[in-house]
Amino acid sequence: MKDITIAIDGPAASGKSTIGCRVADALGFVYLDTGVLYRAVTWAALERGIAIADEAGVTRLSESLAIDIQRPAVDDGRQYTVVVDGRDVTWLLREQRVNDGVSPVAAYAGVRAALRDEQRRLGLRGGVVMVGRDIGTAVLPEAKVKVYLDATLEERAQRRHRENLSRGQDSDYEVVRAELERRDYIDSHRATAPLSQAADAVYVDSTEMGIPEVVDRVLEIVRQVAATRE
Ligand code: C5P
Repeated sequence: MKDITIAIDGPAASGKSTIGCRVADALGFVYLDTGVLYRAVTWAALERGIAIADEAGVTRLSESLAIDIQRPAVDDGRQYTVVVDGRDVTWLLREQRVNDGVSPVAAYAGVRAALRDEQRRLGLRGGVVMVGRDIGTAVLPEAKVKVYLDATLEERAQRRHRENLSRGQDSDYEVVRAELERRDYIDSHRATAPLSQAADAVYVDSTEMGIPEVVDRVLEIVRQVAATRE
């Protein structure tokens, strides 16, 4: 079981992080949210005054930036702590300016190449749940368990909107919905490793499902795969 790698892909706010983290806890696996890597590059570009449209500049940055993902250092609802340039940027990566810039940054082939090797290195160790957009298709096509987690745009926007409000953040449902739609469009239409369901991924529509139910469904998929290997 411990050598299994679990890839969970899907559109924005489909519940990948919540489900991925709980599945990892249930199995004693490591959890890695790969969106954080693209967000960290975007945040660092904004901090350093590198324009998001400057492909060469952003790509160079992605090749040299040290992104450290650690166990959660503070008990404030975070799943991990992200350190960039010696700063705890965990919540800064969720700023609106990062949401706005991250999909264009993630569409740069050079940025994806720079981040891919490290993701593969971690994934190939096994005992990992990796969530993202292209884990099952491009980063770890050999992953034993692949899940494509989906929900309607309206349900995803409602979930993200409620999550923002519960964190004390201002939130407007229509704005959230438009932002998710825009990111999904860019993510699924880019030339390099676009968001798409891998041919061997199990499709899970969580629109009408609660969190425990989705976690159980993914654990059931994992058990089936483990059983066929014995
Ligand atoms: O998952 P999250 O919303 O944090 O991801 C932020 C962005 O990072 C996505 O909209 C996408 O543009 C990019 N991303 C990606 N490939 C991944 C994970 C995230 O392109 N594996």
